[in-house]
Amino acid sequence: MQKKYLFAPGPTPVPERVLADMALPIVHHRAPEYSVILQEVRDNLKYLFQTKQEVLIFTSSGTGAMEGCVSNLLSAGDHALAVRGGKFGERWFDICKAYSVDVKAVDVEWGHAVSPEAVEKALNEDPEIKAVYIQASETSTGIYHPVKEIADIIKTRENTILIVDAITALGVVDLPQDEWCLDVVLTGSQKALMLPPGLAFASLSDKAWGFVEKSTLPKYYFDFKKEKKSLGKNQNAYTPNVQLIVGLREILREIKEEGLEKVFERHGSLANATRLAVQAMGLKLYTVDEPSNALTAVWAPEGIDAGKITKLIREKYGITIAGGQDAAKGRIFRIAHLGYAGCFDVITAISALEAVLKELGYKFELCSGLKAAQKALFGE
Ligand SMILES: *Cc1c(COP(=O)(O)O)cnc(C)c1O
Repeated sequence: MQKKYLFAPGPTPVPERVLADMALPIVHHRAPEYSVILQEVRDNLKYLFQTKQEVLIFTSSGTGAMEGCVSNLLSAGDHALAVRGGKFGERWFDICKAYSVDVKAVDVEWGHAVSPEAVEKALNEDPEIKAVYIQASETSTGIYHPVKEIADIIKTRENTILIVDAITALGVVDLPQDEWCLDVVLTGSQKALMLPPGLAFASLSDKAWGFVEKSTLPKYYFDFKKEKKSLGKNQNAYTPNVQLIVGLREILREIKEEGLEKVFERHGSLANATRLAVQAMGLKLYTVDEPSNALTAVWAPEGIDAGKITKLIREKYGITIAGGQDAAKGRIFRIAHLGYAGCFDVITAISALEAVLKELGYKFELCSGLKAAQKALFGE
């Protein structure tokens, strides 16, 4: 038998209590019992998103909410801007294209964050741009984009909204939707929300709801107005993934019990320890600018294929970490520390990384990473 560990940036481990909750007999989604669950979930989602708005719920992976954020906010031929500095930024661009939106990209070198000035410049060059699509945390590169500064630029423009894919940021770092004027914030269930994949969420500002009113792109399942109306009656428009909603109720209780501030602190501390540990081993962070607290992206040592690292660590120690994608494939590996993660997950990941790198012939001082992680987590 081999014990398994999941340290990939989604799906992430699910707390045992939540797994047990989700194994209970299924509740009918039109029964009064379900409405009680949904009422609590709706209230607590507002706490998580730090918003007064209704948080929409869809049964899909996160990309479903991304697609809905194009089809519900724009019309064919509308101008949009996508910040493209990784896989998920590319996805924004591709969804816009699929819906005949006239999309431009602010291209950002992988591993870098976009500069607010570059976004402002693009907006000044094309005043017709109605929507700016961005990731808060670009999971493919491990970078954190300065969404607050970008929101500051967009909030004064009446005809432009900001859509933030916060799938590995919400519940990891402070992202107060209403306070920062983030017009749309979306997330999915399988990352910081510690659930299996299958739910997607989006919350819209009043300004963004105004865009929904004018949108003429085709939509059917991901119809934001329809879902909002149903939620107002403690129902979902269509059959939701009931078990995941039951799990979500428990997750949101636990997040509330810990308190958002503590949740952000915990992620900050795990991220800090992981970064210090890999650097103490002589490795280099892939992220040039501010890294995301959800995961740490690291260059594989000179001459060692990152694919070998992820393969060996899985086969020999039952640990799943992520490799790089596209241009970063074989060159980087990514260790996640989001959601149901604690200090001994970092210790486990670093310890296994040391063992694997040693086996692959990388020269470094054994325990240097562990020592740095322990110092960061537990003090001198
Ligand atoms: C995981 C992720 C998504 C959504 O991917 P799905 O596989 O559709 O859930 C989108 N954006 C970011 C930043 C992500 O990390």
